[in-house]
Amino acid sequence: MITDSSPDPTERGASWRLALSVLETLREAGHEAYFVGGCVRDRLLGIVAEDVDIASSASPAEVSRLFSKVILVGARFGVCRVRARGIEVEVAAFRTDRGIADGRRPLSVGPATAREDVLRRDFTINGMLYDPATDEVIDYVGGRRDLAAKVVRAIGFPHERFREDRLRMLRAVRFAARFDFAIDPATEAAIAAHAAHVLDVSDERIRDELLLILQGPDPVRGFTLLEELGLLPVILPELTSGCGPNAEDSSGGTKRLLAAFAAMRERDERIVLAGLLRDLAPAAVGEVVTRLKLPRRVSRDVVNAVQAMGRLWDRPDWAPSDLKRLLREPHGKLLVPLSHLLCEAERSPPPPGVLALRDAAERFDERDLNPGALFSGRELMDLGYPRGPLLGEIIAALETAQLDGLINDREGALRFLRAHFPL
Ligand code: ATP
Ligand code: MG
Repeated sequence: MITDSSPDPTERGASWRLALSVLETLREAGHEAYFVGGCVRDRLLGIVAEDVDIASSASPAEVSRLFSKVILVGARFGVCRVRARGIEVEVAAFRTDRGIADGRRPLSVGPATAREDVLRRDFTINGMLYDPATDEVIDYVGGRRDLAAKVVRAIGFPHERFREDRLRMLRAVRFAARFDFAIDPATEAAIAAHAAHVLDVSDERIRDELLLILQGPDPVRGFTLLEELGLLPVILPELTSGCGPNAEDSSGGTKRLLAAFAAMRERDERIVLAGLLRDLAPAAVGEVVTRLKLPRRVSRDVVNAVQAMGRLWDRPDWAPSDLKRLLREPHGKLLVPLSHLLCEAERSPPPPGVLALRDAAERFDERDLNPGALFSGRELMDLGYPRGPLLGEIIAALETAQLDGLINDREGALRFLRAHFPL
């Protein structure tokens, strides 16, 4: 009998509970089914798995007949997701992958046994099956041994496995950094040999892995591995001219920056990326974020934040109006945490521009940043100012004076207009 009131904390996640009932239904219908992959690894490590995946002899069509809500995410590869109570569990049919020609995905997949299914998986620590009914780990690949030895090791022949799917090279680094594991020497040598081909992987997947490493528990280790294995110069060539975590770069050390990331509570991807790209020219930052296919809004904030940091570092004199305008931009909210990171990386005290910004961020609330215009364009025209470029200039000048605290009501605004824009 499968219970869901286990005393084991790793079994208390919502996903685990749903997966138990899905597994039971599959088995009652006569299918073979096991928990597989990351959730088995995490359970053995004593970590609550976020997602529980099931490997089963059932095809997506058969799964669809057993559950009311089934999403066919990769039916061609035998993968679907069962949804209940807002949670999803992935059910993948046992399969072998055939003829991976493009370094990304198989040309076709074939039906397989549970044993064959784990042999197509990436690393031994990700290749274990678990039977919750008997509490038995079924380990055809030596995953338990490698987990105990803290080793990321490719299943089968490493060269073949990385030739099949280049993404696995980045996954190896991510898992090694996440769990503080070594990479097995043969696996490591194969990654170094295939590193130049990592661009066979789609830009989006490279981006996702990169962000997972940057936002993971040990970005210093992740980036050090990426650099040592020759992956970093291929995925971020802009960075490696003396900026790698193993080199002391001109502004004082990407390594310290990455270490500072790890200490941040909330690691906004825009802050992480802007920090990493801080020394690049704006055009180069633009190229990187475009290549990584980041959402447009994220790209824009990263580029703007890097530019703004440059200005804050270079320019000592900032009027309150400049600071307020900066702080009300979407990227403005990133600048205070970003400046802390960069000062830490550079081991330098904050320059005057940065101090002024931090002070402004503390002192001004939303109303101070957006006080609302004292005169609208319509009202200015009623006063006799003609429509045209001058009107825009007047509106901006009024706002600057208002943000600088020189005027704060309509009387003051009228005096300002008479003095600076006489009719
Ligand atoms: P995470 O906790 O990061 O989700 P995970 O091991 O669950 O780690 P997933 O990407 O969710 O990783 O994949 C689930 C399982 O599918 C893996 O554990 C592994 O067995 C298999 N797998 C995923 N990606 C690959 C790949 N590129 N090549 C071979 N097997 C893979
Ligand atoms: Mg997973």
